[in-house]
Amino acid sequence: QLLHDLLNLKGNIRVFCRVRPLTLAENIGGGLGFGLGHVVAFDTSNLLLELGNNKSKRYTFDSVFHGSSQDGVFSEVEPVIKSVLDGYNACIFAYGQTGTGKTFTMEGTLESPGIVPRTIQTLFRQAEDSNHNFLITFSMLEIYLGNLRDLLVPQAMRSTDPLPPCLSIQTDPKGGIEIENLVSIQVSDFNQALKLYRFGCQLRSTASTNSNTTSSRSHCMIRISITCFDAPERRRETNKIWLVDLGGSERVVKTKAWGRRLDEGRAINLSLSALGDVIHALQRRKRHIPYRNSKLTQVLKDSLGDDSKTLMLVHVSPKEEDLCETICSLNFAARVK
Ligand code: ADP
Ligand code: MG
Repeated sequence: QLLHDLLNLKGNIRVFCRVRPLTLAENIGGGLGFGLGHVVAFDTSNLLLELGNNKSKRYTFDSVFHGSSQDGVFSEVEPVIKSVLDGYNACIFAYGQTGTGKTFTMEGTLESPGIVPRTIQTLFRQAEDSNHNFLITFSMLEIYLGNLRDLLVPQAMRSTDPLPPCLSIQTDPKGGIEIENLVSIQVSDFNQALKLYRFGCQLRSTASTNSNTTSSRSHCMIRISITCFDAPERRRETNKIWLVDLGGSERVVKTKAWGRRLDEGRAINLSLSALGDVIHALQRRKRHIPYRNSKLTQVLKDSLGDDSKTLMLVHVSPKEEDLCETICSLNFAARVK
């Protein structure tokens, strides 16, 4: 309990930074003089960015991961997940430029599973170990060009539209929000939940291929809701955790995008800055929290705030040519801290 209180004193928003390792090809390229690598130096909570001309800038985080395993990352993330069964709502975000490892962190690979499969496993284990009975449901959606699309709608129920059906957000007079008709499936074990997750990932990638977009231009959001149905009345509420693989944060101007690409980039940039604004306002205890500025923050309204735990994992590239985007991402992180 003491530890619990101490953790609460630290506030409910944590910001971590994960640096993607250089790939084999990049290592070889660097060796041939392409100027790659060694842009950042760090310890477990500081990151030093070398800017050239003997200049450098230091950024401080709650944790910095470099060369960390998925296990290592998850052990730092786990307390947030465990807090959901203690009655908190939570959000975990992967933020960063495309190619910096957001999907690797959230989804991972078969050999090195990421945060999503590990969260599902942890929640089921914890539910089994407790004295109570829990009802766990799973939902998955993406936000693309400002539209919410359900990722768990079976093929047979879909029209010929290459994209999954759009969902709308309803607000109730008390300010609560509801995503109308979002498929929410009760899951009774880890494998069942994992199957749904794989189905959603598959639908997301085929939808983006069919509509000639890339999944890095949308936000992928997973919601796991947990209701304790045999607790005393006042505790019989539903808590949820959102796991979000955000769209790439790279700025559109720089990518020389046009037409649809430009629209996609703008939509992502707008919603990411809206998210930054909301977290910034929460950190500064502002009276007005601008949830309404994007679909992303509207959806997360009741999971981003005073009684919720938020974890932002900012991903950066180690490559010198990505320095500008790296600085932007680190500045975003500094602002929400
Ligand atoms: P993003 O989702 O941010 O666009 P990805 O997760 O697709 O980036 O990562 C880009 C590539 O780098 C992938 O091939 C991925 O497997 C690899 N990668 C990213 N982070 C790591 C890491 N920490 N360790 C090993 N490989 C990584
Ligand atoms: Mg990705």
